[in-house]
Amino acid sequence: MEAILLNGKEIAEKKRKMIRDEVSQLRLKNIIPGLAVILVGDDSASRTYVTNKQKTSKQLGMHSILIEFPSSVSEEDLLSKVQELNIDPSIHGILVQLPLPKQIDEIKVIEAISPNKDVDGFHPINIGRLMIGQDTFIPCTPFGIMEMIKETGVTVEGKHVVIVGRSNIVGKPAGQLFLNENGTVTYCHSRTPKLHEYTSKADILVSAVGKVDLIRGDHVKEGAIVIDVGMNRNASGKLCGDVAFEEVKKKASYITPVPGGVGPMTITMLMENTLKAAKLLLQNR
Ligand code: NDP
Repeated sequence: MEAILLNGKEIAEKKRKMIRDEVSQLRLKNIIPGLAVILVGDDSASRTYVTNKQKTSKQLGMHSILIEFPSSVSEEDLLSKVQELNIDPSIHGILVQLPLPKQIDEIKVIEAISPNKDVDGFHPINIGRLMIGQDTFIPCTPFGIMEMIKETGVTVEGKHVVIVGRSNIVGKPAGQLFLNENGTVTYCHSRTPKLHEYTSKADILVSAVGKVDLIRGDHVKEGAIVIDVGMNRNASGKLCGDVAFEEVKKKASYITPVPGGVGPMTITMLMENTLKAAKLLLQNR
């Protein structure tokens, strides 16, 4: 039997419709969720991400502003813009597109964002809240992964979840979310010997590495759910993930494609976080 495709575009569209409806409700109460995106320099991939985030927020009825700085911007100027946005009542979510140029300390910038406006969920306070199972802004990609898992109807509790990759923005928070759902979590990374010995025992396998064909058929247990976060170009320049899709779909029960899997979910969960930030304000009125 072939795996069922977890279509990120479809799941994202369903979610976006719900967000759009909630934004309309908030607008009736004179709250327009506002997202500020800061772009430093002119990296083409960063610009594409930022443009997509802006476009989506507008489609969902949100207020969205883009603040651009040249790559020569000083840390001080960037920090003072963040402070300004922290107190701007029309802005509920602040996102600084990473990576930043070398002269700027990324950690300092992330820590300058008010935790209540940290819609990327990268602020140490929000990461701490995630660790102890408190309500927080969940980093968008792991948040999207959990939404896709929900879509399968499979409960995480008691499952063995193997996460390949331990970055602060994807791997680590993804593992924490599965742990919070009572999964048994194993993290693998570049120093893990015999990767397949771990991955082939996973009921749920998440690969967030960035290497074409890292996960082959023999890395996967029969019937596993396979979530491919990787975004790579193969030898012919085609967008692909970490998972050898054609081989793995013959063994998995569910699988995400690349493109059209986790990617569309990531932006959608950013919108969900921006909506949440605006609703927080309503609660605190
Ligand atoms: P990072 O480069 O920060 O992390 C990659 C992780 O993979 C590291 O933990 C690294 O281990 C591990 N790794 C590297 N090589 C191997 C290997 N051979 N075996 C096992 N583990 C290995 O990447 P990100 O987490 O930021 O992103 C991962 C991938 O996901 C990328 O392709 C990125 O483009 C994509 N991505 C996709 C998103 C989407 O929306 N679809 C959003 C964000 C990212 P170590 O820690 O030891 O170095």
